[in-house]
Amino acid sequence: LDDGDKKALLDGSFIGNPKLVEFDNKSWHCYLKNETEASDDAIDMMGKALIIRGVWDWSLAAILRDELSHGESEEDRQLCAIEGGMDLLPKELEKLLDGKANIHYGHKVKSIDAKNNKVTFENGKYVDFTDKKLLCTIPFSVLKNLELPNFSEVKKNAINRLGSDYASSMKILFYYKKRFWEDEGTPIVNSGRSVSEEEMLQLYYPFPANNTPSCLEELPTLDSAAPASGLFSLYVGDSPSLIEARKTAQTESFGDSDIPGVLLASYTYNKLSEALCNMEQGKASNKVLCNLSNFHKGAPEPDEKEEWCWDEKEHFKGAFAITTPGTLTQFLAEGKKPERAIYFAGEHLSIAPGWIQGALESSLREVAKMVSSD
Ligand SMILES: Cc1cc2nc3c(=O)[nH]c(=O)nc-3n(C[C@H](O)[C@H](O)[C@H](O)COP(=O)(O)OP(=O)(O)OC[C@H]3O[C@@H](n4cnc5c(N)ncnc54)[C@H](O)[C@@H]3O)c2cc1C
Repeated sequence: LDDGDKKALLDGSFIGNPKLVEFDNKSWHCYLKNETEASDDAIDMMGKALIIRGVWDWSLAAILRDELSHGESEEDRQLCAIEGGMDLLPKELEKLLDGKANIHYGHKVKSIDAKNNKVTFENGKYVDFTDKKLLCTIPFSVLKNLELPNFSEVKKNAINRLGSDYASSMKILFYYKKRFWEDEGTPIVNSGRSVSEEEMLQLYYPFPANNTPSCLEELPTLDSAAPASGLFSLYVGDSPSLIEARKTAQTESFGDSDIPGVLLASYTYNKLSEALCNMEQGKASNKVLCNLSNFHKGAPEPDEKEEWCWDEKEHFKGAFAITTPGTLTQFLAEGKKPERAIYFAGEHLSIAPGWIQGALESSLREVAKMVSSD
């Protein structure tokens, strides 16, 4: 890809670029199978090792776009967390508004009228945005089922098509009063993740209490001391901050039964999560507990557990936008276009779908458009 292709790929301007249209019209699984020399076994192994078998049906262009959106430098590609919790992000943004904005929580949008400039809420209240502009960041998976009077057919079609291309995802959380996984000897597990061939897919360990590094300086590396038994691999972080955190944990909190912890016992997406989401309440957790014993023999019953399936949540109806072949070329440009005074943003219309920075980038992009169109 040359610089022009890369820019067009990120912007989603595919029309007029035959190379990108071609990349968008095939899934990357088909690409690997038909256009590379990788054997079926090698592709299968890649899918399992890189935890990507759930997203084989994404278009090749979507995968390249995701890769590009993370930037090229090591610094850009760091994974960071906000110390104190991710909800500090909207809270800090709210503070920046300095009390000058009216924020109404708990108002469910029922309809958006593009011609009469009216947003109606389920509680019967409404907002008139005549002579103003509206930024709509409701996921298209939800928006497609709201009332959208006076929207053009072409816009509704794009919302409907993009809103139907969402990944399924499920997380199962186990709360333990004692962090048994830190108490098992070698390898000491108190951060990183374990990856499985089974339904649970991946398991994330919390950082040691009070020692959460805010950025991983490098992606976790494969630990050669990983146990086998039907499991693919065990990853533990090896970056300096993690090693430091682990050392501190050993001296201060390792094996301390007073420190409770939450295991993200299972994080799945697409086909694997669809299967778990469809199970009766509690059944998926039982299955995951069974699989957990493969990593941690005799893992105890958790003190509390929680199953969270994004597909079923009224305000999400899916985890994040995925783009199957043809979607980017045919619908992204239309999805991003304003409809009269209504502008659209959110991860689903961004250069980085499925990432928080995508939500931020697309909102900044649209606000700039709103301001400059005055
Ligand atoms: C399982 C999972 C793991 C993820 N992991 C990561 C990660 O590690 N790193 C990362 O950067 N990103 C991650 N993401 C993605 C990240 O969470 C999203 O990209 C980001 O939250 C998208 O922001 P958004 O504002 O576009 O949409 P959302 O955060 O979905 O916000 C949309 C808002 O619209 C509201 N809404 C919906 N319907 C209505 C209605 N009818 N009326 C009023 N309001 C409504 C919702 O309540 C919600 O507040 C993950 C997502 C999932 C699901």
